[in-house]
Amino acid sequence: MVVEMERFSGACTCGREHEITVKAVWIEAGAVTKLDKLLKQYSFPVIICDENTKRAALPFMKNYFETLEVLTVTGEDIHANDIFVDQVEKKLSEKADCLLAVGSGTVHDLTRYTAYQRGIEFISIPTAASVDGFVSSVAAMTWHGMKKALTAKAPRYVLADTDIFKNAPFRLTASGISDLMGKYTALLDWRISHILTGEYLCEAIYDLELEAVREVELVLDNIKTGDPESMEKLMYALILSGLAMQMAGNSRPASGAEHHVSHLWEMEIINDYIDALHGEKVSVGLILCLEYYEKIKEAVQAKTCKVIDGRAYETELLKQTFGKKGMYELALEENDPNLMEELSLKDLEEKLPEIANEIEKLPDSKKMQKLLSDAGCITTMEQLGLSEEKKELTLRLCPYVRRRLTLLRLSKNLSFPGSLYG
Ligand SMILES: [Zn+2]
Ligand SMILES: [Zn+2]
Repeated sequence: MVVEMERFSGACTCGREHEITVKAVWIEAGAVTKLDKLLKQYSFPVIICDENTKRAALPFMKNYFETLEVLTVTGEDIHANDIFVDQVEKKLSEKADCLLAVGSGTVHDLTRYTAYQRGIEFISIPTAASVDGFVSSVAAMTWHGMKKALTAKAPRYVLADTDIFKNAPFRLTASGISDLMGKYTALLDWRISHILTGEYLCEAIYDLELEAVREVELVLDNIKTGDPESMEKLMYALILSGLAMQMAGNSRPASGAEHHVSHLWEMEIINDYIDALHGEKVSVGLILCLEYYEKIKEAVQAKTCKVIDGRAYETELLKQTFGKKGMYELALEENDPNLMEELSLKDLEEKLPEIANEIEKLPDSKKMQKLLSDAGCITTMEQLGLSEEKKELTLRLCPYVRRRLTLLRLSKNLSFPGSLYG
């Protein structure tokens, strides 16, 4: 399928002109052959890949691997961080005027960041439907230990070749499913912040994204059996999520508290290194957030939810956790000025029924857990090698990893039976 880009750019009912820098997206078998034509406009295209993604793409891109310059990122445990950015920067020819990201999330983040730094274009060739970041204009990076969303470049073209990505190891596809289902809480967080602070929210983006997530939810069984059409639906929804970020101008439509859980674990503040994929961590984050949000909803409905003043930073907690890793100052820097400084507790109290109403629209946590685990996804902390005892600390701490208002951050002002506060 060719994704109609006109649908996504231009004047919108939200009052903004949405800007999409991606010129064309193909999601189909044989999509990589479009390169023949596309590459004519560049004089020195360079393929960026790692050993695994090269192996996956090689049978379908043999001529390109033979004729173009290839930069293979090497090393143990390749990540999107300052160390590997450095490696790419050092290996990359000065003459490069277009980069071809052949890989999954990490290769894309390294490529988009480098393309931005060099001021050149890049073409995305995803080798797995594993993350939603392919068309994003920000790179999810670990920069000197802190998780950062750094300004980067969106691809000019996306060539998602079904022949390549449908054969990816299922674990990668499962991770993509989880990353996508995480949009449920990401969108909820966006809505709640909009309700409470008037933060910009575009209904068109919101609906587009929710619709794509629901479409995929209906075909999870077929994805498990590798049905190409259903795999393409997953890839489409993931790419759409990236387009949504471009339209909104930030990652708001795609990343909320469920991602903050994942980021906290990636930062290794309260745990050791977890050998898991992005989507696998988001998956567990999603279930934890759904469970806690359900408790909030039930308490509001039972009128046992009290508003307390939890707006100030939990300084002691931050010192004992981030501080022990020498990251107390960094955490404060990320959070300043305090997102909840201006929050009116009276407003929060008044809007509780509306908030509960929104939570009601989320999928049930138990049903989501079953759905994901039936689809072959990870859903528990135990599966990640994390003790369940860290659940409460994770939920308390993760809102500090990114300066973004979520219901989880707001819940520091809510006391109810089973709540973490008050
Ligand atoms: Zn809009
Ligand atoms: Zn994600």
